[in-house]
Amino acid sequence: MSLQGKTALVTGSTSGIGLGIALVLAKAGANLVLNGFGDAKAAIDEVAAFGGKVGHHPADVSKVAEIEDLIAYAEREFGGVDILVNNAGIQYVAPVEEFPVERWDAIIAINLTSAFHTTRLTLPGMRTRNWGRIINIASAHGLAASAGKSAYVAAKHGLVGLTKSVALETATTGVTCNAICPGWVLTPLVQKQIDDRAQATGDAQQARHDLLAEKQPSLDFVTPEQLGELALFLCSDAAVQVRGAAWNMDGGWLAR
Ligand code: NAD
Repeated sequence: MSLQGKTALVTGSTSGIGLGIALVLAKAGANLVLNGFGDAKAAIDEVAAFGGKVGHHPADVSKVAEIEDLIAYAEREFGGVDILVNNAGIQYVAPVEEFPVERWDAIIAINLTSAFHTTRLTLPGMRTRNWGRIINIASAHGLAASAGKSAYVAAKHGLVGLTKSVALETATTGVTCNAICPGWVLTPLVQKQIDDRAQATGDAQQARHDLLAEKQPSLDFVTPEQLGELALFLCSDAAVQVRGAAWNMDGGWLAR
């Protein structure tokens, strides 16, 4: 399928899953607005290789004024956002009674509230054009919990709820809203959790295996490319009646 002429905004797309999704959408012909911290130039160059228009805005999506600036940039430079992928996210692991309040606030702001702001700011343009795709990158933790991840689980369950509400509010339009719920994907966010485990045991291979074996029956990681292909399907005409779904791609995690 071709996304020629469409503009996709992917938050948190300088690395990991966001970059993987941006690459698949760019390969399908979309123009890309990238966002996120770190080495933006490497991400821009990789995405631009597919020939579409590419920009990067460094908004910190925990800050509403910076999100407003990001959307204004997309409107000014790209004529609006047709495909919104809310992907930026962070993790922190601690028991609830020891959970740092500042980490709780940051996780809710970045993993949940940012999607409310990007959605409310881009939906009017999608409604006017009667075409849009909102794809929220939730998690298996949007549908099931794990100990030690109260803020992340709360934010991701919240994101699945937001997805359903927006899907109902847009149900009779050409705009769809769905969530993708990945299991373990080997990105910096997960590598840190493997490193933390390995520090305790001194065995990185064992830490990797244990992390997978606890949750993911396939004993293999989901890849950003596979998630990108699912996002691309959700952008297709064939997916127009997929509305309010929380679609897991998790190596069997939620089948247990
Ligand atoms: P990552 O750490 O590789 O990438 C996160 C991206 O978000 C980076 O580009 C980073 O710069 C950006 N970012 C972080 N804070 C930001 C902020 N305040 N403002 C703007 N950008 C910010 O992580 P990832 O593993 O690719 O995770 C991407 C999304 O996928 C997250 O929402 C995460 O919860 C979700 N997810 C990841 C996994 C996994 O196993 N890796 C599983 C399920 C869901």
